[in-house]
Amino acid sequence: MIRFFNTMSGRVEPFEPLSAGAVKLYTCGPTVYDYQHIGNYRAYVFEDLLKRFLLFMGYKTSHVMNITDVDDKTIRGANLRGVALGEYTQKYQEAFFEDLRTLRILPADVYPRATEHIPEMVAIIRGLLEKGYAYRKEGSIYFSIAKFPAYGRLSKIRLDELKPGQRVEADEYEKESVHDFALWKQPKPGEPFWETEIGPGRPGWHIECSAMSSKYLGETFDIHCGGVDNIFPHHENEIAQSEAFTGKPFVRTWMHCHHLVVDGEKMSKSKGNQFTMSDLIGQGADPIDLRFLLLSTHYRKMLNFTSDVLAQAKASRRRLLDFLFELERGDLSPGRTNPVVSDLIGKARRGFVEGLADDLNISNSLSALFEFVREVNTLIASQKFGQGDAEACAAFLREVDSVLAIFPPKGLQEQALPPEIASKIEARQRARQQKDFKLADRLRQELIEEGIILEDTKDGLRWKRTKPSGRTNG
Ligand SMILES: [Zn+2]
Repeated sequence: MIRFFNTMSGRVEPFEPLSAGAVKLYTCGPTVYDYQHIGNYRAYVFEDLLKRFLLFMGYKTSHVMNITDVDDKTIRGANLRGVALGEYTQKYQEAFFEDLRTLRILPADVYPRATEHIPEMVAIIRGLLEKGYAYRKEGSIYFSIAKFPAYGRLSKIRLDELKPGQRVEADEYEKESVHDFALWKQPKPGEPFWETEIGPGRPGWHIECSAMSSKYLGETFDIHCGGVDNIFPHHENEIAQSEAFTGKPFVRTWMHCHHLVVDGEKMSKSKGNQFTMSDLIGQGADPIDLRFLLLSTHYRKMLNFTSDVLAQAKASRRRLLDFLFELERGDLSPGRTNPVVSDLIGKARRGFVEGLADDLNISNSLSALFEFVREVNTLIASQKFGQGDAEACAAFLREVDSVLAIFPPKGLQEQALPPEIASKIEARQRARQQKDFKLADRLRQELIEEGIILEDTKDGLRWKRTKPSGRTNG
């Protein structure tokens, strides 16, 4: 049985999707006003672990992630740069999708853009006006939180000091300012706006997630994820808008991942401790080590990112990789199978699944795998282990890697590559990360001349040889 912590109830609860075998999942996506930092990717990797585990357990998933391409921050950025909003956000969208591929995050089924769903948002706002939950003030439209008694249930804010009728127009604000929030903002000089049946203007941030989640997943769906900083005001406001409009429960399970801090401090541009993926890759980090680090800390714990913990993650992942490569080398005596091996695999699989089924307790799942490595290594050392055993163990590791996604594709074993080729492949990946496509193309061409073809697949980079490996040496 799968159990998840539900922010709404404050408890770990059994998880059962609305329709058997299929999970409807909404995850708040990026605001594309800048490059995403590793704190953002912590949330996306957590959501990827959740989704991959559900798939592993045999569920189908429908996954929607919105792209916020109009809000206070994107408009400010476009105006500062003096370019159209769409042109400004395009670059950051592309960088985001590139990072997702690099981190082996499975793509969502739909990535709806806010600017492409204005009519859906307008329909909800009009409904909220008609039902008396929203009101007009000076050309804008606000949600009246006094009309929605359940307001504050998710974030557990205290409403005793609530002063009805006070308004906040900003998309993001602190818990101290619990106010009526903007659904629709009046046109302002220099800001993009839409002519609609509720008047000219542009949407607030929160309404887009209410509109786009219900369009693609229905009025009530299974899981809504985000970072803890989304709980208030963003998710609180989503609930108010959606439930006031539909009269139905909005989301069954709310899951939020905790912050990532760097060297014990909150990330900020001014402190210079806010890293993007390109920053880390430029410093020589392997993005899959970063993925392993992000997923190997339980999602409800604060993650303190330091160069030491990244090095530890690298070393732990290396242990699993070396073990897998040894199993896949294929040089053991053929045919022999040790009956203990299938018991060990069964025990490790149970430990792995039980850990993740317990509110994604990844530490227990990884412990089960490392215990498995130790036990199998003992068998190998005592020579009670044949080729058939190695294949069964390797197949098991490949199976759990559909959840972890930390191994290279089969056949891509780092030690099989001459070091100069491996470093050229790495340099080409780095160049792509840093958007130096000219250099990336040149390196790719050089690799082709040396008989290595690169393919970018949804599971990451693959390579294959076009010539026998000895030939380059003449
Ligand atoms: Zn959202």
